[in-house]
Amino acid sequence: MRSVKNLIVGCGLSGAVLAQRLAGQKNEEVLLIDRRSHIGGNIFDYKDTQTGITVHQYGPHVFHTRSKEVWDYLSQFTQWHRFMYRVKAVIDGREVNIPFNLDSLYSVFPHTLAEKLEIKLLEKFGFNQKVPILELRQTSDKDLNFLAQYVYEKVFLGYTTKQWGVKPEELDPSVSARVPVYISRDDRYFQDAYQAIPQNGYTSLVKNMLKHPQIHVELNTDFQAVKNKIRYERLFFTGAIDEFFDYELGRLPYRSLDIVFRTHNVPYLQSGPQINYPENYDYTRSVEYKYYLDEKADKTVVSYEYSCPFEEGKNERYYPIPDAQNQALYDRYAAKAKELKNVWFLGRLGDYKYYNMDQTVLRALQLAGEITK
Ligand code: UDP
Repeated sequence: MRSVKNLIVGCGLSGAVLAQRLAGQKNEEVLLIDRRSHIGGNIFDYKDTQTGITVHQYGPHVFHTRSKEVWDYLSQFTQWHRFMYRVKAVIDGREVNIPFNLDSLYSVFPHTLAEKLEIKLLEKFGFNQKVPILELRQTSDKDLNFLAQYVYEKVFLGYTTKQWGVKPEELDPSVSARVPVYISRDDRYFQDAYQAIPQNGYTSLVKNMLKHPQIHVELNTDFQAVKNKIRYERLFFTGAIDEFFDYELGRLPYRSLDIVFRTHNVPYLQSGPQINYPENYDYTRSVEYKYYLDEKADKTVVSYEYSCPFEEGKNERYYPIPDAQNQALYDRYAAKAKELKNVWFLGRLGDYKYYNMDQTVLRALQLAGEITK
């Protein structure tokens, strides 16, 4: 029987941070396995051979954080391409800033109406405030209520129904609150102090994290197939917690994506990197990757995202589905996990949490800190 000090299942961002910390700080041996054929999990990217454009195989990843700790930590492993994300949605045939902001008002409404709504928003909430759409819908003011209903229907309802298969109010409010109405002229998708994309891509970032003599990576290796052949002191599981327990309490649902990449024979296809389609088409958004690293090419690669339920063996897990019922089931799995003495769960799938990349890193750094203290 083979024996290792630390076995980490899943070579995505969580697994990579943890491995780096255990090996880098404690010089401990780490075996990192992944059933896929590549490192990086869902942040895996690659250079498209035809165009040389860096493409994100599992959909758009734009790094942003307000945590200096996370920024400094990752900066050890990559140079950054400074990049502030800007997203538009097609509403009534026009490209409108998302998050919906004060300028968006003027894109969709006649000037006098936009002005009236701007004044009312400023009076009620104040400048530079972020108001989740579900909260804006609660206002009693007739004009603000009209605005809330408009934004709800035009920006959130169609997109969320396509993306999650349910209405915004059927999900945990934190989901639609990720993209609040923003009483500001700031048209960036994020306001965090640090916003950038790894200069050589995310795969290269992860590769650099794993460069340590004590870290051994084995791909195409399923935990199920090796778990009885490897003895470990500690197990860190970044896969789905329900799968780990063989679904004995029932299945946690996840959303998956079918992402279609198309190469277009024009230098640029879109006005910017991401266009959302709450009202049109079957896909939720299209992403033009050359904008991310400002890569030059005669052609351009654009992805189209079709959301669908996760089905085991058919597609990959992308998103946990945050609602009360799923949280309750997750909590029961988490209670079982607590009973295990030398097993820890982390990551979007291990914690069943809709983490951003920086939250994933922070979680793994904190866990590594607890383990190594
Ligand atoms: N959302 C929406 N319309 C938009 C953008 C976002 O309804 O134009 C909602 C939708 O429910 C989406 C959620 O806000 O799933 C979070 O959006 P985000 O861009 O953070 O999603 P991610 O990039 O994580 O897929």
